[in-house]
Amino acid sequence: MPELPEVETIRRELVPLVVGKKVRSVRISRKDIIGFPGPRKFAELIADQRILGLERRGKYLIIKLDKDKELIFHLRLSGHLQVNRDADASRFERVRFSLSGGSALSFIEPRVLGRVYLVEAGQYPRILAGMERMGLEPIDSGFTVDYLTEKLRGRKAKVKNLVLDQRICCGVGNIYSDEALFRAGVRPTRSGSSLTRLELQKLTRSLQQVIRNGIRWCGTTLTDGRYRRPGNQNGAFQKHLRVFGREGLECRTTGCQGTIRRIRIGNRSSYFCPVCQT
Ligand SMILES: [Zn+2]
Repeated sequence: MPELPEVETIRRELVPLVVGKKVRSVRISRKDIIGFPGPRKFAELIADQRILGLERRGKYLIIKLDKDKELIFHLRLSGHLQVNRDADASRFERVRFSLSGGSALSFIEPRVLGRVYLVEAGQYPRILAGMERMGLEPIDSGFTVDYLTEKLRGRKAKVKNLVLDQRICCGVGNIYSDEALFRAGVRPTRSGSSLTRLELQKLTRSLQQVIRNGIRWCGTTLTDGRYRRPGNQNGAFQKHLRVFGREGLECRTTGCQGTIRRIRIGNRSSYFCPVCQT
């Protein structure tokens, strides 16, 4: 699933390709991918809108349009965006925005779980209510040890689930949470309230670091190849993963002879080193 670094990479790379262009028309191949409003209204409202800029909030990509309208993409598990010549058809393309100048923005989503919404800025429909409840992102200046301490205080839930909570660590998903917990030396199964001040400091710093490094390396493309950048290249942070996807392999910490383990927490896999993480 694209997390903050992947969506931020997509945002940065789309800017020079689409900003300033006008949406000429839209072709909707799968109506259920339009989250709001209905497909017909969506097509009517998007026509002739100019793309003013691109923003991101957590895992949502926001395209700013004329008259305070926003086109919001949620890529979910396998969605990605590409800019092609308008004549080129992509496999699994669900929505195509034909742009001025002869190019097109394609929303490609093999699993049809991703969604695109067209809304008035700040007036989010109920289906997007989660956007209003988002917490700080690890790269926000207010994301400090005091912030994380306050959010985890008294929480009996597993720290892994708390770090995945978008109201606490906005933009963080399964890969970066495992990597941050590893770097902080904290087991994913610990309860939020059990973390010491030192562990909270380490976790704050490691969340900031893995998210920043994820952006620097243009995101993580796993062997499933689900995440690709707008120009079809892969990300490179997968080369820097210490635990995620490494079940049964030796821990990369110098001097540690531990073997990376995988456990289920909720309905997700969590990877950790039983020696480095306590
Ligand atoms: Zn280890």
